Amino acid sequence: MSQLTLPETFRALRAVKEDAGVRAEFQSLTPADLPPGDTVVRVTHSSLNYKDGLAVAGRPGVLKSYPMTPGIDLAGEVVSDETGTYAPGQGVLLTGWGIGERQDGGYAEYARVRSEWLVLLPSGTDAGWAMSVGTAGFTAMLAVLALEEHGVTPDRGEVLVTGAAGGVGSMAVALLAAAGFTVTASTGRTQEEGYLRSLGAANVIGRDELPALRRPLEKERWAGVVDSVGGETLAGAIAGTRTHGAVAACGLAGGGALPTTVFPFILRGVSLLGIDSVTCPTPRRRAAWERLARDLPADRLADVTQVRPLSDVPALAEQILAGQVRGRTVIAVA
Ligand code: NDP
Repeated sequence: MSQLTLPETFRALRAVKEDAGVRAEFQSLTPADLPPGDTVVRVTHSSLNYKDGLAVAGRPGVLKSYPMTPGIDLAGEVVSDETGTYAPGQGVLLTGWGIGERQDGGYAEYARVRSEWLVLLPSGTDAGWAMSVGTAGFTAMLAVLALEEHGVTPDRGEVLVTGAAGGVGSMAVALLAAAGFTVTASTGRTQEEGYLRSLGAANVIGRDELPALRRPLEKERWAGVVDSVGGETLAGAIAGTRTHGAVAACGLAGGGALPTTVFPFILRGVSLLGIDSVTCPTPRRRAAWERLARDLPADRLADVTQVRPLSDVPALAEQILAGQVRGRTVIAVA
């Protein structure tokens, strides 16, 4: 039976700052170490995202203070909620809102958060499923919703996903395929072609093909794009987007610069749609998670997901930064 009271001590992976730099270590915490908040969650699962890799590996920019528990995603069961919104034992998930960045996140057996940040696990799902989706899948869902709201429908033509073998990319391929789109996956790991086709990609192209498109306007190809790479890849994707198409910009795995021109925007009416999962308002979050439960059920995620213990996170952090992690990694915390 699960424990619905806080224990005297619990395990956490903490990023600590020392003269030599930032390093991650396992610590035993007490309830007094938890940050302020109205709701305590027993965390059973978290996940590994690129941002978590940066935080755990001690790279600057993600963690805003130290010591800090990284982990931008968590799922588990409510222990107590002072607002009365959730009952003890209810299954919940939380992505973004600054956890694992500004406030302790998912790499600990317990978390104290704000009730309003939580989303009830959709019916028929569990915490493992939620973290298999995680911020990456949620972000991909927001990108697909943004494209659809812009009028990008399967009959408008081919759609492109960049960084396709990564977390956001894999989920975007699967979601777009489930929605009936013809998906082209761009990847630096062409050996993953079989994997990408199993997710629903109709075509797989090499990572180098998009930056090579240097002219401001290329042949019109993409009705829509989900980009997690940024930089010249994003610029190449914009240049090849069809008239009145749209590009959802989600990430910067390949760079934060955007070396493009205004021509695709003013001569083709191409739209660049910004995606920010961290501050996404709660009603949109709930709608996105319901659609994820419908379009990405657990059996569709099995091949995309590996489950690893919390003790593996320091090594996994290095691997995701080196672009060696395929798809999604669920972290079993409890
Ligand atoms: P992953 O590391 O799982 O995926 C990133 C993928 O990008 C890699 O798998 C690789 O794909 C590709 N890639 C990596 N390095 C390069 C490079 N130098 N040049 C071109 N392509 C590269 O990370 P996530 O999926 O978790 O995150 C992807 C990006 O999205 C990150 O920048 C992250 O910060 C951002 N993000 C943004 C969110 C938001 O709210 N906007 C939320 C979540 C993530 P392949 O092997 O197929 O080439």
